[in-house]
Amino acid sequence: GYLYNIAGWGDPYFTVDSSGNVSVKIHGVETKPEQEIDLLAAVKKATEKNLQFPLILRFPDVLKHRLDSLNTAFANAIKYTGYTSHYQGVFPVKVNQNKHVVDDLVGFGKVYNFGLEAGSKPELLLAMNSLINGSPKAYLVCNGYKDMDYVSLALVARSINFNTIIVLELEEEVDTVVRASRELGVRPILGIRARLLTTNPGHFGSTSGKHGKFGLLEAQIYAVAEKLKQLGMLDCLKLLHFHIGSQIPTTSIISSAVREATGYYCHLVKMGAPMGTLDIGGGLGIDYDGTRSGSSDMSVAYGLEEYASAVVQAAKLVCNQNGVAHPVLCSESGRALVSHHSILIYDALVAVEEPSDSVTSDELISRLDELVGNPTTLHANIKSAVQSEDGNNNASLAHADQLNKHGIEIFKLSRRLAKQLEAAGDSTYAYHANLSVFSLTPDFWGIKQLFPILPIHRLNEEPKQKGTLIDLTCDSDGKIDKFIGGAQTLPLHALEQNGGGYYIGTFLAGAYQEALGSKHNLFGGPNLVRVESAGGFGGFRVVVVGAGPTAADQLKVMHHDPDEMMQAIAKRAEAAGHWTPTEQKIVKSVFYTMPYLFGEA
Ligand code: PLP
Repeated sequence: GYLYNIAGWGDPYFTVDSSGNVSVKIHGVETKPEQEIDLLAAVKKATEKNLQFPLILRFPDVLKHRLDSLNTAFANAIKYTGYTSHYQGVFPVKVNQNKHVVDDLVGFGKVYNFGLEAGSKPELLLAMNSLINGSPKAYLVCNGYKDMDYVSLALVARSINFNTIIVLELEEEVDTVVRASRELGVRPILGIRARLLTTNPGHFGSTSGKHGKFGLLEAQIYAVAEKLKQLGMLDCLKLLHFHIGSQIPTTSIISSAVREATGYYCHLVKMGAPMGTLDIGGGLGIDYDGTRSGSSDMSVAYGLEEYASAVVQAAKLVCNQNGVAHPVLCSESGRALVSHHSILIYDALVAVEEPSDSVTSDELISRLDELVGNPTTLHANIKSAVQSEDGNNNASLAHADQLNKHGIEIFKLSRRLAKQLEAAGDSTYAYHANLSVFSLTPDFWGIKQLFPILPIHRLNEEPKQKGTLIDLTCDSDGKIDKFIGGAQTLPLHALEQNGGGYYIGTFLAGAYQEALGSKHNLFGGPNLVRVESAGGFGGFRVVVVGAGPTAADQLKVMHHDPDEMMQAIAKRAEAAGHWTPTEQKIVKSVFYTMPYLFGEA
């Protein structure tokens, strides 16, 4: 376990037990005692059910502990800082849209009024459905680009008593909201997404800064507020949001972002907006390499407590300076909530020694033999060189020079031989594993994100081989040859002759990995069209070969049942007296069309 620094990145969830297996620690609560689950035993149980590798093992208790820890960290920071409002977070469903993950978070989060954030139309549908069982106070934050359908659905959600907030990302969205709100006769609760000048320097920070992709710069924020005032809608503006990218490396960046945003918040209050909530987005990071250095995308230099404390102190400072009441603090922490709770497990099928293309040790030895020759001849050579020194000076110099070269050559070859002998004990092995790197850890493939990877058993036995992992796809990128710390190989054990099974786990992979690929934000693939020329006159025809997936199709991929969802939403809407043909049409149309926005062609 030490070799893989489990204590660094795994604490307080993963340890190695006395038999050398990874064990998952379940922290006790009133109703359940503390417990350790042997990961290998859990995997064996799963395979006894005839499940094949790769497997994703989810630990809902770990998920609950993460959520409890986040809320406790904020509660404590608020208490000790003398902050006069509270924390009320949301989970950004894009980070893991799986039904069970979202439902679990809503269930565990009910006591904290924990809500959800949606970034697209299908995400809004699933968030509505899931929050039927959540706290009525929970926020339903609607981010992302929005068309009429998106805004109308958000307004339906509002009228059926979800605490829905439409966050304006572009100035143009004000017009869409005003139109939809008039058509449906529903007043929205609005937020504005700020584009901060504070930047997140890491890989994930490209959405931040003056040239970031989303949000409004300071002057635009106030212009939108002014526009709302003119429309008689400034009383709808209740939230300021920002997101400067994931995996923020240090608390000083968090602190500076919160101070900047709180400044804008206070200005909006002074303009007469009711406000009430500051939504600090995501960015709460994970220490993948366990170094707490904050020096790379793999590491952040803080834990939950330091993060919460930095946020609370920064917000308090700026509000106090402006004489503005402390807002409710909302975060959209995704990565930090769901990374730990799911582990990807695969088995190694064979380990093949990698052919080495250097000169063999035998060849090196015979070349050394030639150079050194017979020790007596070498001695005679030296002797003759020394003797000739008295007679012919030039001849002696030439001779000495030759001997010198000879010596350097011997030295070089000996070093090479020594290195080669040293390496011979641990040549590299390619472990072929039941895995598809592209579909299971797309961030490794796409943005070179590294995850802790290690065998989940035999950890009391020294791993003597250096291995890379090769997946089963025919993709040449389907290889893991970069590991935390920068090594190109991972220490692994020789596979047992009797085929006992060798199980490897990729840890901290519960965030984004399942949701990425074509499933990001549940947008799905494109429509496929064939353009056939008609010959002769340059005409052509367009044939739709494959219609892109609808929101319902995409939701099914993440194990949601669109028919059940539709019924549940209808029931809730009928109870709220809001299920007119118009409202039905809005909900249905989002389910059964592609999730992309409708633009003008
Ligand atoms: N909020 C928004 C608007 C995002 O775009 C994201 C992720 O990209 C998140 C929250 C989640 O961020 P994190 O996983 O860093 O908490």
